[in-house]
Amino acid sequence: MSDATVAIVEVGPRDGFQSIGPLIPTDRKIAVVNALYAAGVRRMEATSFVSPSALPQLADAEEVLAAAQALAGLDAQVLVPTARHAERASVAGAKHIAFVLSVSERHNRGNVRRSPMESVQEYRAVIGSLATGMKIRLNVATAFDCPHEGRIPIADVMTLLDRLVPIEPEAEIALCDTTGRVTPDRVEALFGAVIARYPQVRAWAFHAHDTYGLGAANVLAAWKAGVSIFDAAIAGLGGCPFAPGATGNVATEDLAWMFEGMGVRTGIDVHRLASVAEEAATIPGAQVGGRVRDALRARACRIEAVT
Ligand code: MG
Repeated sequence: MSDATVAIVEVGPRDGFQSIGPLIPTDRKIAVVNALYAAGVRRMEATSFVSPSALPQLADAEEVLAAAQALAGLDAQVLVPTARHAERASVAGAKHIAFVLSVSERHNRGNVRRSPMESVQEYRAVIGSLATGMKIRLNVATAFDCPHEGRIPIADVMTLLDRLVPIEPEAEIALCDTTGRVTPDRVEALFGAVIARYPQVRAWAFHAHDTYGLGAANVLAAWKAGVSIFDAAIAGLGGCPFAPGATGNVATEDLAWMFEGMGVRTGIDVHRLASVAEEAATIPGAQVGGRVRDALRARACRIEAVT
């Protein structure tokens, strides 16, 4: 067993739940958060502070965040699209803010009604408003591909990062394959390029989607390029309301299975996590993905049949 480790950021409670139409009772969300923690998850995107009228599913952000922060040693980040919502998150006691913007003009306008450069200014305002000691994650959406504009050139990502990185070099930066259309070669190329160009950045992360079945392959490519922080959602929940066809995040249990099998520790108990994923998959309106959950269930059935 090597001593290599990766950090998996469980985004199901935000990215996954956000894409589910029928309102999930707050108690059920908190039960999932607690079960994920019990399975070994220590980083989580617990919720998002957005306009409750735009996203009623996450109107209980304060309560879910409070429950997540009650878990000792859990690093609970919350997604915010604007400085105003960052302020709400801060008032609610958030200690880790994730700000999101898109490389693509059309995607950013669809998501937050601003140009990417206006979002850069918004990010500057968020950073300026953070209390001492608060952690910041920067989610760069459509870093590889946009549902409207197609392939995003590396140069476009660099143009944006040239402005973003100096604002806060301590920020962890996640590059997001919003549509799931990227291939491993391009993942490796972009991460290789940004890691070389911005050595001052504390940490890079990758947010993969499994829409075309390449989620785990793309994660492996990012890992080979030097990334060790990966977003994933239990049962492959998720998608993006502004990225048609982007069905699911890569499944947490698939990544945990892959890395643990490689001797790279995730801190997650794959079997316990698969049970949590089974539970989450029964949430009304959930669109599920991933393979490991089904595989482990099938294996359990076979073992039962023989014994
Ligand atoms: Mg996602």
